[in-house]
Amino acid sequence: MTLLLPILSVAPRRVRHPQTLAVALVLSLVTASAFAQKAHQHGHAQMQLTLSASGQLRLQLQGAMDGFLGFEHRPRNDAQRAAVEALRQQTLLADAVIALPAEAACRLTASEGRSMLFDPAPAKGTREGHADLELVQTFQCQTPSVLTGAAGRKTGLEVSAFKHFTRLRTLELSFVVESGPGGADTGSRRLQRGKLQRIHF
Ligand SMILES: [Zn+2]
Repeated sequence: MTLLLPILSVAPRRVRHPQTLAVALVLSLVTASAFAQKAHQHGHAQMQLTLSASGQLRLQLQGAMDGFLGFEHRPRNDAQRAAVEALRQQTLLADAVIALPAEAACRLTASEGRSMLFDPAPAKGTREGHADLELVQTFQCQTPSVLTGAAGRKTGLEVSAFKHFTRLRTLELSFVVESGPGGADTGSRRLQRGKLQRIHF
């Protein structure tokens, strides 16, 4: 079935700068500030993927909890407590929001889901309201060229978030591919439920 899904290449925008560290720093500052300014919007999330030249893939996702859980208040009964715990467990899985091709030989090395709903007791003075989910995952890939198409094989990766979270409607994707000394490719793409399931860096 996945073979029939539409495949779309995200056109990269090449950035060149003589100082690799400066580029990496600027990119991370730009993307970090853009991340922080995004408004809380139900059914919407932002995801950033950063692939280093050594094959480390870092995933950062942030979105309104409603898109992942269906509610944003603290659990009020056993069913809601179980739903929160199931979500917390899901964030620990390698395919929580993306499914990487086996050919890339990626291994999940760290994963952490954060939300105020995951805290057993609210801090004093905390007001109930909207809640977000943040997910940070790190993978180490033996053959990262499979992800970028640099080896001539554009396998791409599957966005599994829409499959797992049925209330999620849009995903704002940005990516950075650090391509060795002095360079990085960046790109962005807005993914919609039911329209795009596989992407290339
Ligand atoms: Zn909300």
